[in-house]
Amino acid sequence: MQYQSFLIKYAEIGTKGKNRYVFEDALVHDIRKKLERAEGDFKVYRERGRIYVTVKSENYDYEETVDALQHVFGIVSICPMIQMDSTHDYKVLSDKVISYFKEVYGDRKLTFKVNTRRADKEFPMQSNEVDAELGHDILEAFPNTSVDVHNPEVVIRVEIRQFINIYSEIIPGVGGMPLGTNGKAMLLLSGGIDSPVAGYMIARRGAVLEATYFHAPPYTSERAKQKVVDLANEVALYSGPIALHVVNFTDIQLKIYEKCPHEELTIIMRRYMMRIAEAIAEKRDCIALITGESIGQVASQTMQSLVCTNEVCKLPVYRPVIAFDKQQIVEVSQKIGTYETSIEPFEDCCTIFVAKHPVTKPIPEKIRKSEQIVYDEMLPMVEKAVNEAELIWCAGKGR
Ligand code: ATP
Ligand code: MG
Repeated sequence: MQYQSFLIKYAEIGTKGKNRYVFEDALVHDIRKKLERAEGDFKVYRERGRIYVTVKSENYDYEETVDALQHVFGIVSICPMIQMDSTHDYKVLSDKVISYFKEVYGDRKLTFKVNTRRADKEFPMQSNEVDAELGHDILEAFPNTSVDVHNPEVVIRVEIRQFINIYSEIIPGVGGMPLGTNGKAMLLLSGGIDSPVAGYMIARRGAVLEATYFHAPPYTSERAKQKVVDLANEVALYSGPIALHVVNFTDIQLKIYEKCPHEELTIIMRRYMMRIAEAIAEKRDCIALITGESIGQVASQTMQSLVCTNEVCKLPVYRPVIAFDKQQIVEVSQKIGTYETSIEPFEDCCTIFVAKHPVTKPIPEKIRKSEQIVYDEMLPMVEKAVNEAELIWCAGKGR
């Protein structure tokens, strides 16, 4: 079946009262943007609380179109459909439904029901009459079918509005809120599995993302940096372009390594990461930080460690995977397409300077005291790291 139209369903934004148009406009805007990736020429428009995508060109790529729509936050489902001009003639409607059914299901043995909604009250039959008549016509035309009103395999939906929409396939969207309907947040993006997932989850709530990556050349390779750029590009397929700030962290790490107690290296290093990310966030008008931390995953993510990393930030820190098990995070990363890149074997700056026995229950006063040893020396180094961060725009790869 070569569909020429899609009905786009969205849930949450339908409930935003007067702001509803802002959300719908943002959704339409993002749909148009994402469809630039798919071959074909499309019209995206709103009509009475509905969003439609219709294909204007002769040819288009169905798979690419559905894939593009499955990268739009705010879409709950994508329904490929047949749209016909309004008619008040039941026979014309019935013929269309029969030809639709034939093309999509052929002579398959299946159970079905018809579900009609009539917004156009001029249509001479009531919805339940249309259901019954169409059910009857389908049964007659396709002897392998039977009606099951409670648990049908296929629901044929007919919407009689300004146009008549006929559809039965429902492809899931990613849900969430349209991009740009919330503030901007700074993601601490490493090359791991967790932080891309964390960024995706917050972007899915309508936030715009920027990202900071701490790079420690020559201890971390160019390839490790490229992996983070790749990840940012993969998340950007959903979130839109990401400004990635690459911070040279080598001198800071070496200084901590040289002067601070080794069992506290990770926690002190993480405090500096948070400070630097926050300074860049403020320069870039981000109003929150995002990390991929999860309680108890490693020594630096026990609740006590999180107290220590959290206390150096003024901005709220969003940790959307805080209560996820690793397996759950892996599942999301596989679903969104970052997993394969995340497991590429390139070292991260944290893995090089790790102590054999890091503290798991750091005491904030003690950490502050250890940090005092380097604090003054560190101030200009932090400033330099912030000011000299390299900016790489990651706009998503693919078409
Ligand atoms: P990931 O969480 O991405 O899988 P990870 O499991 O190695 O990385 P940690 O090293 O414990 O996690 O770091 C916890 C969080 O700190 C990461 O989720 C990320 O938000 C941030 N982070 C860690 N290393 C870096 C880095 N080199 N650059 C930017 N952020 C980092
Ligand atoms: Mg992690």
